[in-house]
Amino acid sequence: MAKKIVVIPGDGIGEEITNAAVLVLKKISDKFQLDLTFESHAAGGTAYDLYGTPLPEKTILAAKAADAVLFGAVGGAVWDNVDPALRPEKAILGLRKSLGLYANLRPIKVMDCLVEYSPLKKEIVSGIDIMIVRELIGGIYFGDKCESEMKDGFERAWDLENYSVPEVERIVKLAMETAQKRNNKVTSVDKANVLATSRLWRRTATKVAASYPDVKLQDMYVDNCAMQLAIHPTEFDVIVTGNLFGDILSDEAAVLGGSIGLMPSASIGECTSLYEPIHGSAPDIAGRGIANPIGTILSAAMLLRHSFAAEAAALAIEKAVEKALLDGYRTMDLYRDGFKKANTEEMTQAIFDRI
Ligand code: ATP
Ligand code: MG
Repeated sequence: MAKKIVVIPGDGIGEEITNAAVLVLKKISDKFQLDLTFESHAAGGTAYDLYGTPLPEKTILAAKAADAVLFGAVGGAVWDNVDPALRPEKAILGLRKSLGLYANLRPIKVMDCLVEYSPLKKEIVSGIDIMIVRELIGGIYFGDKCESEMKDGFERAWDLENYSVPEVERIVKLAMETAQKRNNKVTSVDKANVLATSRLWRRTATKVAASYPDVKLQDMYVDNCAMQLAIHPTEFDVIVTGNLFGDILSDEAAVLGGSIGLMPSASIGECTSLYEPIHGSAPDIAGRGIANPIGTILSAAMLLRHSFAAEAAALAIEKAVEKALLDGYRTMDLYRDGFKKANTEEMTQAIFDRI
């Protein structure tokens, strides 16, 4: 039966990079007889300009009805003065809420041929293979807020962090199941020495882990985790954590790999899953055909693996990306003397030819 992928290019380089990934997915669909179909929908600043809203109802309905969503990126300085409730970024936040995407999965791997791009020494980053599982629709980003208030002559503001047992249970379960497909090791990250939400998190994680006796659970404070990621990153396998800590740690971990343009992500939840590169819309290079398409192409591989259980097809894409890099193709963000300079189209073609 045909599987429908809703493609949401968004703004900036969104169109260029999602086009690249769709091209690769079409070849994979033919080769592995996956019968994939594609439908494009608007979101972000582009949608705001066209329809007066960054997330049209039509896009939400299409995403809910789809088998998977491939998302580009949204945002750009041209929309800086738009009413905050209608900013392009509201599109992705709205989609996460509408689709109940409670988990964000970010794999961090450093390919041997790219170790020299890491800010850390080769000996430290060589062999990194981490999966960060970040809670995405709870915690302090979604608690009660008071933008600011005048009291006793001062302006003050607060944000309220809250987590419930079921919210922690479902994300830790997902981390445990992810670990079972990897190396049976999970590090749960919190700040239980200071925060009540973290103590609830730790208690709940311990309880959930009891049902997975094959998986080893380790608790770690977030400050220590931030440090360990920089000195012993290869010690980690699956990391599970809340929204705020996950946001920070996943960006820290992503730089270990060298370029933001290479990193994919998956957001999983109650309805359709959504796949997107971790970088933004890169307005500074948009429209020039030079963006690195690899983060989006690897997101497409995650899509095949998680939404369609098409492991062989996902691997074929990952291998083709690695081969293209090994053969010396580099987009501008990674280009150095002695390599083959490639624009978006040439990089995509190099990957396409190696599938
Ligand atoms: P956002 O707020 O959406 O995260 P941002 O401004 O923080 O956006 P990006 O849009 O990710 O960040 O861009 C950060 C820098 O990385 C820019 O200089 C951009 O050109 C570069 N960049 C991002 N993605 C790519 C890519 N796919 N290929 C090449 N360079 C990229
Ligand atoms: Mg950013």
